[in-house]
Amino acid sequence: MEPPSYEEISQQPPALRIEVSNPPAYTSSLPSTPPPAYGDVAVVSQPAPVPIIASCLRESPALVVCPHCQELVTTKIKHVAGKNAWGICMTLSLLFCGFCLIPLAIPRCQDVVHLCPSCKKQIYVFER
Ligand SMILES: [Zn+2]
Repeated sequence: MEPPSYEEISQQPPALRIEVSNPPAYTSSLPSTPPPAYGDVAVVSQPAPVPIIASCLRESPALVVCPHCQELVTTKIKHVAGKNAWGICMTLSLLFCGFCLIPLAIPRCQDVVHLCPSCKKQIYVFER
């Protein structure tokens, strides 16, 4: 069977006719108020940072008033092997001799010494 010729096809109405109805008209229900002027914007200033008490210091540097020089400083921290690290070290040396020095090398096991960057004195020691 041969396909229909071009003339035959062009005389026939299209098989599928898509009915396009008009979309509903857009009715604006929003109030037409102008946006607020930029001159009304309130200026919000951030509050000044509040220093914490030296005894609340933990493992990260913090803003404190140095008890030695009375300056508002962000502490410098230094990790030192404290009682806890040495205790783990002794326990490990009894069990596994080769691994006993690991607690002395891991900062998470060590105490944190907070130093004043201004007068270089020790402010607080956070013991683990
Ligand atoms: Zn100081």
